[in-house]
Amino acid sequence: MMKDLIKYERQREKMVEKQIKSRGITDPKILAAFRKVPRHLFVSEALMDQAYGDFPLPIGEQQTISQPFIVAEMTRALQLDKDDRVLEIGTGSGYQAAILAEITFRVYTIERIHSLLIKARGLFDKLCYHNIVTKYSDGTTGWTDESPFDAIIVTAGAPEIPEVLVDQLAMGGRMVLPVGDQYSQNLIMLYKNEDGLHKTNLGGCRFVKLVGEHGWDQ
Ligand code: SAH
Repeated sequence: MMKDLIKYERQREKMVEKQIKSRGITDPKILAAFRKVPRHLFVSEALMDQAYGDFPLPIGEQQTISQPFIVAEMTRALQLDKDDRVLEIGTGSGYQAAILAEITFRVYTIERIHSLLIKARGLFDKLCYHNIVTKYSDGTTGWTDESPFDAIIVTAGAPEIPEVLVDQLAMGGRMVLPVGDQYSQNLIMLYKNEDGLHKTNLGGCRFVKLVGEHGWDQ
């Protein structure tokens, strides 16, 4: 409905001002993406009115859509260029992938829970994100056929940095992922160049588990 569209547009603008801009994220491309992507469509109907709040929300299957600021912070850490090809591990609701797709050339996203992937795919079609490619698989082994990637984002907490993913990063590539135990992690940013791998700790965070061959056991 038209009334709802206007209501959610206002909530998006408020979210951008109060949660993202005021916390230091000023890149116009990132802010424009957050103003555009209809976050309320990425949660169940019962939660739509909370979609623009300053917190994560459940998306079913015991998984969550991250807090808007975390999505923005991880997006910023990737330092994306419009020609970049990005790999995301953990499609979940599809919200982070949509944000990335607004900013960059192509997004490859992998999800291990089939029902979540089906829902996200439906949204990508509905919202005409033709530059998002999806795969139903264990993302901890990456996507060899499409590698190397300019950027890799892992949206679930890993016990350690999966070496295979580092291998699939291009020279000059950036990777961001939460690393730690099952209850709290640090958001780690990696930059790969000829001199090796450069690590920055962006601070504490809390994500659901990365489950797979190079992640946690089920
Ligand atoms: N980026 C998502 C966040 C979803 S939560 C969003 O914007 O909504 C993290 C997701 O990672 C969950 O859906 C979970 O099922 C998925 N996940 C966990 N381990 C995975 C793995 N090994 N491969 C692919 N997806 C995985």
